Amino acid sequence: MADRAIRGRVLTFRRAPAGAGDAGSYAFLPDGIVLVKDGRVEAVGPTASLLPRLGGAPVDHFPDKLILPGFIDTHIHFPQTQVIASYGAQLLEWLEKYTFVEEQKYADAGHAARNAEFFLDELARCGTTTACCYGSVHATSVEALFAAAEKRGASMIAGTAIMDRNGPQALLDVGKDSVAASRDLIKRWHGKGRQRYAVTPRFAITSTEAQLAACGALLHEFSGVYMQTHLAENPEEIATTRRLFPNDPSYTSVYARAGLLGPRALLGHCIHLDDSEVALLRDTQSVAVFCPTSNLFIGSGLFDHARLAANGVRIALATDVGGGTSYSMLQTAAEAYKAMQLQGQTLSALAAFDLMTRGNSAALGLEAEIGTLAPGAYADIVVLDARATPAMAHRMETARGLEDELFVLMTLGDDRAVMQTYIKGKAALIPRRGLPPATP
Ligand SMILES: [Zn+2]
Repeated sequence: MADRAIRGRVLTFRRAPAGAGDAGSYAFLPDGIVLVKDGRVEAVGPTASLLPRLGGAPVDHFPDKLILPGFIDTHIHFPQTQVIASYGAQLLEWLEKYTFVEEQKYADAGHAARNAEFFLDELARCGTTTACCYGSVHATSVEALFAAAEKRGASMIAGTAIMDRNGPQALLDVGKDSVAASRDLIKRWHGKGRQRYAVTPRFAITSTEAQLAACGALLHEFSGVYMQTHLAENPEEIATTRRLFPNDPSYTSVYARAGLLGPRALLGHCIHLDDSEVALLRDTQSVAVFCPTSNLFIGSGLFDHARLAANGVRIALATDVGGGTSYSMLQTAAEAYKAMQLQGQTLSALAAFDLMTRGNSAALGLEAEIGTLAPGAYADIVVLDARATPAMAHRMETARGLEDELFVLMTLGDDRAVMQTYIKGKAALIPRRGLPPATP
């Protein structure tokens, strides 16, 4: 017998949509059921055909609401929950003035544990069920995050920030040993329950050549581990990198030479790249991570989605909190749309919702586990209400079909549009606005 049934309007993507109107890219059930057993999707189908299989399992019924796979955020900084919304600086000054100061507090295990709970609560409130997280340089930060996530059954990818130069001494003193600390954390956490490790050099400027090479060796030593870092976010950052690595033909080649690129490499930003760098990303199957709210807020520039896609570069979408200004992937998609509009490009609602779910899981190579509602996948699920606010309800009076509804959700929606989030089939939120409580 199933443990639970979640009933409503079920939407899941099969492949990347070719554009607006590509109905073959998704499966939609106007009245459907997701059957959950042992934390995984047992079956998905029309209510009429699955009702006989319920066998007394509790049903969480969300009439008129959309049931989708939980959102995936492919780049977010766990120690920056109290850096978000910091005023008036571009990248390098922003790091020194705000981030490096805040991250020093994560040497304290109590501080890290408290913030891990807040962080995971906030992700769930926004419907995000998996995230790729940067820790501080301290092993305590990632330990706290993994421990809290594992307790909730949530799948996280994370790693301690690695750095050994161009930062405050307190971080560098810890950071010089952070490759060794990462090795220990990989052994302790990678593949434990639903947790996975990402080797996380902050960016080229804050690591010596030797440290980047040690990161590459670590990736070579442990197959299946991810690599996450920042690339070509800001012109001053690029100029500094070129000064620090005078023998490399480009910023991207610094990472390539250190052995950091590959199908599990997630490179945040990728805004200012020359053609040889785009080719390097494509040839190594690395992932360019689009962080629109951060790019606009820190004034870094516009991610050229069309150029990267046309060149065959794999693309993911992310919040980049605290440079990013919202934990909500809906708001992130809205800003992605605007950043692309400024370049004469477009992002259809179908493409945006695919990217937040199946697309981001494909970027992580995890399609069989997360990002779709298919039998065998984890029951990580978000329930969305396109009428969550008065302005949304009013706009929905004129909505013409599913794609219009999705566009309203991404343009006007945020955490208020999230009615429920399920992690391994268990309700992770207090239901809102008078909905019946989810069955425990
Ligand atoms: Zn970042």
